[in-house]
Amino acid sequence: MDLYRKAKFYSISKFTMVALSLLAGASKENLIRLTHLAEKIPKKEAYREKIRWIRTLFQTDHPALTIARRVLKEIHPLHRKKIVTNFIINQLLVGTNRRKAFEEERGFKPPNAMLISPTMRCNLNCFGCYSGSYSTEEELPFEVIDRLVGECKEMGIYLVIITGGEPFLRKDLFDLFEKHQDTIFQVYTNGTLIDEKMVERFVALGNVVPAISIEGLREETDARRGKGHFDRVVQIMDWLKKAGIFFAISTTQTIRNSETIGSDAFIDFLVEKGCIFLWNFHYIPIGRDADLNLMATPEQRPGYGNGLPISGRRSLSSWWTSGMTGASPKDALPEGENTSMSMPVAIWSPASFAILPMTTSRRNLLWRPLTLLFSGRCAPDSPFRKTFSSTVP
Ligand code: SF4
Repeated sequence: MDLYRKAKFYSISKFTMVALSLLAGASKENLIRLTHLAEKIPKKEAYREKIRWIRTLFQTDHPALTIARRVLKEIHPLHRKKIVTNFIINQLLVGTNRRKAFEEERGFKPPNAMLISPTMRCNLNCFGCYSGSYSTEEELPFEVIDRLVGECKEMGIYLVIITGGEPFLRKDLFDLFEKHQDTIFQVYTNGTLIDEKMVERFVALGNVVPAISIEGLREETDARRGKGHFDRVVQIMDWLKKAGIFFAISTTQTIRNSETIGSDAFIDFLVEKGCIFLWNFHYIPIGRDADLNLMATPEQRPGYGNGLPISGRRSLSSWWTSGMTGASPKDALPEGENTSMSMPVAIWSPASFAILPMTTSRRNLLWRPLTLLFSGRCAPDSPFRKTFSSTVP
């Protein structure tokens, strides 16, 4: 980074930190005033646009405001600093500009985030596991994952989502977190390998946000993941809360657990346990023992979220997928559901599964730079993109 960029980065960081420290105790009106002030600072329209978006969140009592306040009150200071620097500054501010510059130079947008499955191995054996039918033999070497994260940053992507299999079976993941201190990593995990020592490592690193999968409360979770699993996850949530780690819970909505995971009791339980974010994915009948009968009914889906804030405490969005393509086609959404989570992402997997326009195989990743893969897949005139657009609504 040259001196000018360093100075600019420093002032943005400083301003963001001060603004966030005010957030904890400031009234809504003062926060809105603060955004008007903040809007005058950046020269680039992209930054101002982001600030206006934040103001809308404040004005509409969006639950994001509650999340921000909880981050300020409950999260460990080192971890909080990393979340602010890596996510708000690097990903949302600096990254947005860099992604725009990339688009201007290359003619197509890079994705906002990268998803990567470093392994498809798992120590559990859940029914209906999407990854259960993929090969577990070939994994991405550390050097390749490391290179991919580096290439992401060059394009302005500082949000990397790690999924699996069970990612923590890869011990070298911590080397990755250590090496890329400026990136935020969200890790989907079944939680079984998290112990108190690992929680201490999360605190020391600061750039890891675990997202632990459960299926609802004890009955639903143990039915899919094995007896005792729910209690184990509750213990982990207690450790994470005590340590001040920002963590999420991830649920897969089926016909069987819709009532539980849509209930206030479930949300109250998660809030009390320190969970800050909930990701809900609709069950898609792919993978091991795929079962169409498990899919949530159309009545259950809008009943669960409507994609709207509920009682000012929750904002639920649907990751709606066609089930066949894994895409999130806006036009095909049931009425009332929004698409705020259908951001463009890339899934990089050791298995070759073609479900997103930017999905690619292990073989491709070993030899080709990301920009080359993007130009082959994401450019509007690429054959892949054209075929995808013509088959997905
Ligand atoms: S659903 Fe998740 S935890 Fe269960 S077997 Fe599949 S990867 Fe493992």
